[in-house]
Amino acid sequence: MSDTEKFDAIIIGAGPAGSACAYTLAKEGKEVLVIERADSPGAKNVTGGRLYTYALEMVEEGLTQEAALERRVTHEQIMLLDGDRSINIDYHNPAFNEAGQVPHAYSILRARFDEWFASKAEETGAMVACGIKVDELLVKDGKIAGVIAGEDEMYADVVIAADGVNSLMGQKAGLIKDISAASAGIGVKETIELPAEIIQARFNLNNEEGAARMILGCTEGIHGGGFLYTNQDSISLGCVFMPEEVARHGQSVHQIFQNFKMHPSIYPLLEGGETVEYAAHLVSEDGFRGIPGKLYRDGFLMIGDAAGFVINTGSSIRGIDLAILSGIAAARAVIDSQDPVRVGPAYMQELNNIGLIPAMKAVEGYKDLLEIPRIYTSYPGLAADVFTRLFTVDGQVPRSLRKEIKGLLKQNQLSLWQLLKDGLRGYRSI
Ligand SMILES: Cc1cc2nc3c(=O)[nH]c(=O)nc-3n(C[C@H](O)[C@H](O)[C@H](O)COP(=O)(O)OP(=O)(O)OC[C@H]3O[C@@H](n4cnc5c(N)ncnc54)[C@H](O)[C@@H]3O)c2cc1C
Repeated sequence: MSDTEKFDAIIIGAGPAGSACAYTLAKEGKEVLVIERADSPGAKNVTGGRLYTYALEMVEEGLTQEAALERRVTHEQIMLLDGDRSINIDYHNPAFNEAGQVPHAYSILRARFDEWFASKAEETGAMVACGIKVDELLVKDGKIAGVIAGEDEMYADVVIAADGVNSLMGQKAGLIKDISAASAGIGVKETIELPAEIIQARFNLNNEEGAARMILGCTEGIHGGGFLYTNQDSISLGCVFMPEEVARHGQSVHQIFQNFKMHPSIYPLLEGGETVEYAAHLVSEDGFRGIPGKLYRDGFLMIGDAAGFVINTGSSIRGIDLAILSGIAAARAVIDSQDPVRVGPAYMQELNNIGLIPAMKAVEGYKDLLEIPRIYTSYPGLAADVFTRLFTVDGQVPRSLRKEIKGLLKQNQLSLWQLLKDGLRGYRSI
C-alpha cells in the first residue's frame, strides 16, 4: 500500500478498547483497520470477568441485547477465607435488574465476547485482520505514520494502540517505560465447565441469573485477592497477586491457586467440573496514578489498558468498561478533528467529557487502602474469629465484650492501636 492509500486509523489490538474504537469510527464512515495478533479476537485475552453494561450502551443503545454475554449478575458476593473457615456476604438487589431496563452487569467469557464485539465492528465497516502481530511503528518526520507487521507496511493518519497492559506500542512510541513489578498484579484464572442446572443449584440462582464474588484471604497473606463468576455453563475462578510478594513468599502462584481451589468452601462449588482453560495475565494496579504522563504524540493515541485505565476498589475491578469508554473517546476525537494527526489534546478532552478521567481520579486513594498489609494477613482471621465467637454457644460463661475483643485482637497479633490506625488510613484513602 502506498502512502496515499492510507487508512483514517489503524488500531492495534481487538480487545474491548480496540473494537469500541473501530465500531465508533466505522459507523461514521472512517476507513479503519484493526490488527490483532491472535487467530481470533479474545483468544489471548483474560478477564475475571464481568462487564458493566452502561459502557456497551454508550457505544450504541441496545448493543447489550445482542452481545455474547453469560449471566446477568444478580448476586454480588464478598467472601472472606481464613484457614478452613469462610464468611460469605450475598447482596441481592432486584433494582439492578428491573424488567425493561438493561441489566447492570453480566459475566462474560472473553473468547466469545471479544469475537462478537470485533464482528460488530466489522459489520459497521471496519476491517479486522487477525493472526498478524504489529512489530514496529512507522515514523515519518517525527510523526507516527503507520505500522510494520512482518514484511508489510501500513499507513494511517492516526495509529491507536489498544494492545493492552504493558503496551509494547506505547514503549515504541516513547510514551511509557517497561512495567514495574510494583505496578501490576499477576492474574491467574481457570474456567471450569459444569452443567447450568448444577451452577444454578450451587449458587441459588434462577435461569440466566449469575453471581459475582470477590474473595479475600485466599492469597496466603500476599497482597491480592480472588474472584469467582458464574457463566452459563462454567465457572471462572481466579486470583490476582502482587508479583514481588509472590517472589518472597516461596510458593508458586500455581500452588497457592491450587490451595485456594481446594478450600472447603470453594471446592464443593467446583466439584465434578472440568477445567477447560487455564490462563494468566498482568493487570494494572496503579489506578489513576498509573496513567502515563502523556497518552499521545502526533499520529498516535493510547487507549484501554495500554493507557493504564483500570480501577480496582477491592469490591470491583473495572477495566473493560474503561477500555470501551476510552475507545469511544479516541474515536470521537478523530471524527471531530480537522487535523487527525494532531488529535491528542482533543482525545484528552473527550476522556474528561466521557467521565473516564474524573471516575479514575475519584477513586485514586483506593490504592492506598488496598496497600494496608493487614487486609491480607490478619483481618480475614479476625473476622472469622468474630463470627466464631458470635455463633459459639458452648455452656461456658461468656467473657465481657471488652475482654473478648482484646482476646480476639491478640489471637490475630493485632493491637487496638493498629486497628484504629488502619481504620483511619482506610478512611483517609477513600
Ligand atoms: C485476572 C484479571 C481479571 C480481570 N477482571 C476484570 C473484570 O472482571 N472486569 C473488568 O472490567 N476488567 C477486568 N480485568 C481488566 C480487563 O481485562 C482489562 O482492563 C481489559 O481487557 C482491557 O481491554 P483492552 O482492550 O485495553 O486490552 P486487552 O483486552 O488486553 O486487548 C489487547 C489486544 O491487543 C492484542 N495485541 C497486543 N499486542 C499486539 C500487537 N503487537 N499486534 C497486534 N495485536 C496485539 C492482544 O492480542 C489483545 O487482543 C481483569 C484483568 C485480569 C488480568
